[in-house]
Order: sequence, then structure tokens, then C-alpha cells
Amino acid sequence: MHDLVLKGVSKSFGNTVAVEPIDLTFGKGQLTALLGPSGCGKTTLLRMLAGLEEPTIGQITLGGEDITFKRAHKRKFGMVFQSFALFPHYTVRENVAYSLTISGVAKDIAFAKADELLNTVQLGGFGDRRIGQLSGGQRQRVAIARALAQEPKVFLLDEPMSALDAKLREEMQVELRMLQQSLGITTIVVTHDQREAMTMADKIVVMSNGRVEQVAPPQEIYHKPANAFVADFIGKTNFFDGVFENGKVQIGQTILDCDAGFIEGSDIRVAIRPEQIYIDTAPDVNRISADVTFVRDLGPVQEYHLNSEIGPLIVEYAAGEDLANKPIMGQKTTVRLPPDALQVFPREPRP
Ligand code: ATP
Repeated sequence: MHDLVLKGVSKSFGNTVAVEPIDLTFGKGQLTALLGPSGCGKTTLLRMLAGLEEPTIGQITLGGEDITFKRAHKRKFGMVFQSFALFPHYTVRENVAYSLTISGVAKDIAFAKADELLNTVQLGGFGDRRIGQLSGGQRQRVAIARALAQEPKVFLLDEPMSALDAKLREEMQVELRMLQQSLGITTIVVTHDQREAMTMADKIVVMSNGRVEQVAPPQEIYHKPANAFVADFIGKTNFFDGVFENGKVQIGQTILDCDAGFIEGSDIRVAIRPEQIYIDTAPDVNRISADVTFVRDLGPVQEYHLNSEIGPLIVEYAAGEDLANKPIMGQKTTVRLPPDALQVFPREPRP
């Protein structure tokens, strides 16, 4: 297996630019998530990788071989799309063995391979069932086993979990990731679900409006978002508009220390994660006053909605975290915004 590389790849449909020129490397054996809101170009990018769509410009290579215009079936990539499109009148085993039997592999060998794959996806013993006798999660695993039957060089999945309920989806994300790691297969997953991307990916490609906003491992995307769009899209964030003056952040009349450097006098957008704000009275920099407007206990986290001197903000405490005097609704309090928690971005109108 080799790196899959995009050089200046873009795609337009008439006047619609679905994907702007992109340079990307999908590392061998890695799982990369293409993440972004609806219409940002994820599926179009995946379809170009699959050979189902030709790039308008640019080049796609696999291990140095130019595959830009190679037909989909010749690429030998495994694919699982939103609708698994299993054959309902075939058994589970026949579904998984399908690609092997039509390419001429003897039936007993294809069936043995199918049974092996069904064991891998924890469906050993389900080979004789019809598709209609399976749950959504089991069907999804059949689709994965079927895609893996040809020993694909690259595995492409487009929102494969979207039909599953939330609990099953989370279980399948973990299972799929463990399977992918054990097989070491280069995998690209399209999703609009940030938790799915964070759970499974070695690397996340965040897209919006056909552009790549950031490419980085999940933790870096979360803790060091490249811009306000990424900070907003991944996790919860409090945003404030202000200016950068004398090395500090000024929001209205409030002046805050921050660790980030920025262009003096420029308009900025400041992002602060809810779990990086503290409700306390410790003598420290960046303490601001606030009224508690709403409190909710979600079990694993307690959420405090505040109306502060810099605007509305949400603070989160994980269960078990120390919060000596829990404020209640209607109470006045102070909150502390540690300087290193302030992410500073340019405040530019996005096209
Ligand atoms: P979703 O999450 O809703 O599936 P996406 O991020 O996968 O969205 P794409 O399906 O890649 O987005 O679409 C990107 C843009 O290209 C959209 O504006 C879409 O309307 C447009 N587009 C996609 N396919 C075609 C097509 N065959 N003809 C014309 N426009 C298209």
C-alpha cells in the first residue's frame, strides 16, 4: 500500500465550484476523515478518489502511479456508501463473496474468504441469513466485509453510519476504527459528524465551501484550530469580537491578557472553549463579572450559562471536577479566562 496524493485537484459542475484546487496526501495505513457541513464538497472529493468523478483539473496518484483518469473498477478501491446497497435476495455470505465470484474466483474459495471476513466483522455464523433478517448495524458490517473482500488498496466510506441510531453509530465507529487499524488499510471516511471524525481519524481534513480549512490530527484540530470556522465547527466555543491593542485583547471596555500574538490594531474574533473557563474567585488575571442565567446538569458535565461583561458565555465543568461553591441561577459570580485559553483569529468577512 502507498500514499494517495492529490495535486491541485479541483472539480466544477458548470458554474458551481464543488472543490477548489486541493493538495493533500492520504498516508498509507492511516484513516483520514473528510469533515465539513453539508455541501462543502466532501462527497465530490471522495468520488474523485473513487474514480466515479473526473477532476476538472489536477492529478491523483497512488504510490506514484497516475490514477487521475483510471476507471473506478480498475482502481480496486473498496467502497461503502450511505445506502449499503446489499442484495436483499442473496444471503449474507453471497453478498460478501459477490465481487469475488463475478471476477471468476471459484465459489468454494470465495465463500471461505467471505466466512473469514464475516468473522473479522464479528458476524461469524450469520452467513446463511438473508439481508432482511439483519439489524442496521449488522447490515453495515456486511457492507464493510463485502468491500474488504477484494483486498482493496484503499477503503472509501461515505457517511457509512448515517442510517444507524446514535448509540449503535458510536459502537460501530469504535469497531470500524479497530478493524481498520488491525488491517492497516488506507481509509478515507466522509462525515459531517465531528465526534465520528474525532473517534476514528488519524488525521482530519476540515472543509467548507469547497476549500480545505485545516488538515491535522484530531487533538490539534480541537486545541489549535486554524481559524474561527474550524473552532466553531469542532466542539463548543464561545466567540467574542474585539480588537488587538498593545498586545492585549480588548472586548468592549474589558481588556484581557492573551498568549497569542497578533497584528496591532486589527479586528479580531476570540474563541474560548467552555471547559477552559473557570468560575472562581482566585486572584488571577482575566477575571470578569457575570450573572448566572441558566444551569443544567447533563450528568457527565454541568453547564453554566452566564451573561458576562463581555457577553453571553457558557462554562462547562466535568463531573468530579472541583467547583467549591456551585453558583445557582440568578446569582452573581466572577469567571476567569486563562490567557492561554484565548484563541485569537482575524475577524474577516468570509466570502
Ligand atoms: P453532503 O454532506 O450534503 O453530502 P457534501 O459536502 O458531500 O454534502 P457535495 O455533495 O460534494 O457536498 O457537493 C458540493 C457542491 O457541489 C454542492 O454545492 C453541490 O450542490 C454541488 N454538486 C455536487 N454534485 C453535483 C452535480 N452532479 N452537479 C451539479 N452540482 C453538484
